[in-house]
Amino acid sequence: MEYKMIRASTLPIIAYCPKALFSSEQIGEISEVAQAGRAVHKVCEEIVKNGDRPEDLKPYAEQYGCDIDFLGRATWYALQYWREYGNAYPDPYVEYSLQAAFGRFILTGHVDVLSIVDNEAHLLDWKSGYRTEVDVEPQMKGYAYLAASKWNVKKVIATVVWLQDQTFQSWTWTAEELGRWAIDLSNQIISSDRHVVGEHCRYCPAFFNCPAQKAIIRTTVEDLLSLDEKAEIEPSRIARLYPAVERVARLCETFRRLARQMVEKVGNIPIDDENELTIVSLQREKIEPLKAWGIISEKLDDETLAKCVSINKGALLRAVADNAPRGQKGKERSELMEKLRSAGAIEVEEVRSLRVVKRKEIER
Ligand code: SF4
Repeated sequence: MEYKMIRASTLPIIAYCPKALFSSEQIGEISEVAQAGRAVHKVCEEIVKNGDRPEDLKPYAEQYGCDIDFLGRATWYALQYWREYGNAYPDPYVEYSLQAAFGRFILTGHVDVLSIVDNEAHLLDWKSGYRTEVDVEPQMKGYAYLAASKWNVKKVIATVVWLQDQTFQSWTWTAEELGRWAIDLSNQIISSDRHVVGEHCRYCPAFFNCPAQKAIIRTTVEDLLSLDEKAEIEPSRIARLYPAVERVARLCETFRRLARQMVEKVGNIPIDDENELTIVSLQREKIEPLKAWGIISEKLDDETLAKCVSINKGALLRAVADNAPRGQKGKERSELMEKLRSAGAIEVEEVRSLRVVKRKEIER
């Protein structure tokens, strides 16, 4: 019998659309996001092994070519989480590879942190990106199934730590529940007979090979080409076309990212006798606030200078939390915001953007 491999990380997509598993070739992306994720995971590994974050994050940022501020922000919360809950993971396995067969499938997974405590497995997954609308529970169930199969434990507690949102989610399953889940999943995959298109598709590794996406894109481009800008266009036609055009735009965006990665990897790529695809560097000047402050103040009064400056609210609150004593971080942040509000220092800006939303949400 031939087994089909399933990576636990693809389970959130497979739960929406089992056909994603059978799309011919999957893309191996070395995106900036993926590289940054690797850097975050490397630093988190150090936190788990040593109980502290490495003092200098620069070597990690350089090794993976990621932004040091991003790395600092993401791993700051990892450290807070580990200080508070790390004792739930005694003698942890770190970056541990697992696999187990079920039905005609072999499930594989890489668990960030895993501990066996009596008859329980405690596992943890660091997520370096923001929480998306795609439900990660199937992925965690996959890891939980793998742990339960290897150690024969009665219960698994799985946690996802969202490092950008600074939140976490936990689930508990018994070994029986996980066994039933694996059988249901196997049946669901075997019986699936159509592609299920939706918001989840933007996270699907099989996006470029998906026949359903190709059909949608072909129809959308044909529809766009048939639009006559001189003739009056029905508003309902614009509205119907909009979500499909968004999908095509996302596809183009993904293509641009892949093209850039390819040029970074293999160098300039010839297009024809005269042109080639290359990465052009532009130099932009940036002003270092700390060094510049005194010099600018000699020229401008505070009111004029303030018009040239904007304060990043997220960075400010993080700095306040970093300076606050342990256990006081939330309080210090709230106090600062309260004071700023009372002083009229907070302005609410309205940002208008075009979106597709459920009608019920507007009526609420
Ligand atoms: S792109 Fe969407 S419809 Fe196509 S295989 Fe992936 S999840 Fe399924």
